[in-house]
Amino acid sequence: MASKLPLMIVATVVAATARATDRPVAGDAPYRDMPRIAPIGARISHYLPVPQDAKGPAIDPAKGYRLQELGKGLYLITDNAYQSMFMVYESGVVVIDAPPPYAAHIVPGIREVTDKPITHLIYSHSHSDHIAGANALGKVPTIIAQAETKRLLARDNDPQRPLPTVTFEDRYSLKVGSQVLELSYHADAHEPGNIFIYAPAQQTLMVVDMVFPGWMPWRRFAVAHDIPGYFAQMEEIRKVPFKTLVGGHVARTGTHADVDRQIAFLQDLKAAAAKALGSTKPGEGLDAKTTQENPWAVFDDYIDRVVIQCVNTLTPTWENRLAAYDVYIWDQCYSMEQSLRID
Ligand SMILES: [Zn+2]
Ligand SMILES: [Zn+2]
Repeated sequence: MASKLPLMIVATVVAATARATDRPVAGDAPYRDMPRIAPIGARISHYLPVPQDAKGPAIDPAKGYRLQELGKGLYLITDNAYQSMFMVYESGVVVIDAPPPYAAHIVPGIREVTDKPITHLIYSHSHSDHIAGANALGKVPTIIAQAETKRLLARDNDPQRPLPTVTFEDRYSLKVGSQVLELSYHADAHEPGNIFIYAPAQQTLMVVDMVFPGWMPWRRFAVAHDIPGYFAQMEEIRKVPFKTLVGGHVARTGTHADVDRQIAFLQDLKAAAAKALGSTKPGEGLDAKTTQENPWAVFDDYIDRVVIQCVNTLTPTWENRLAAYDVYIWDQCYSMEQSLRID
């Protein structure tokens, strides 16, 4: 018995040592030139202030929504985070999108303006956060969407998102009474089936999840399905002769100046990521063992250093020009460098 005791102690010590060295350890020192803005997964303790120009008119907290007349019977309805529209014509109302956060307020909002029935619902695209409040409108006789949206909705099989009754491929002109809405499809960008909804008399364009007036786009180009398509579609938006842009998010509508500013940011981002990819070397600063046996680690370390350079290049120009620059700049640089490498 006595001779076994020291052996047990040795075995325990060996096991403990093995466990300690198998644990991943954060770097003793951060990467060189680490930005002040907290990276993905790290808590931000102090956010950059939201510029005045990114803010919109206040919401009446008792109502929970705000109406904004866009001209000739067309209205924006918003909770200052999501945006949708409705258009009143001689014998009814056309609703465009039904975001769940304020879906229950859409009918009361319409009733502030008219008693006419809702005859049409248009889906901008299939995502539930913009249309899954459809049932709050009651049974709508005609639901219009692009064909890809119907395909995706049939796949998703969600009772909160009833299937379109009318679909189109490239263009659809909705004429109701004296009102007109021109729907058009400009290929995949945010999502297949995401359309432009243009009201020519009101010079208003609604395109959802593409332009964020005054704000940094939501993370990863607003989770764009196709990033080169997203860049191309920004130029399509620029060509439309609108006065008012309804982007589906944030607290205010947009203008051509907002589109131009977002395109300028996207161009700077692309240039910064391309430059960083070109001037960064994989494997630099890593030990020989890791370099030889762990290509995932080599690549992860390389991309981190590319993205750090991308963030550092953009920060002086953009940190005060787009609200929430600090919240999503790391995401945008990670998405941009990946798109440049593989698309
Ligand atoms: Zn979406
Ligand atoms: Zn959205």
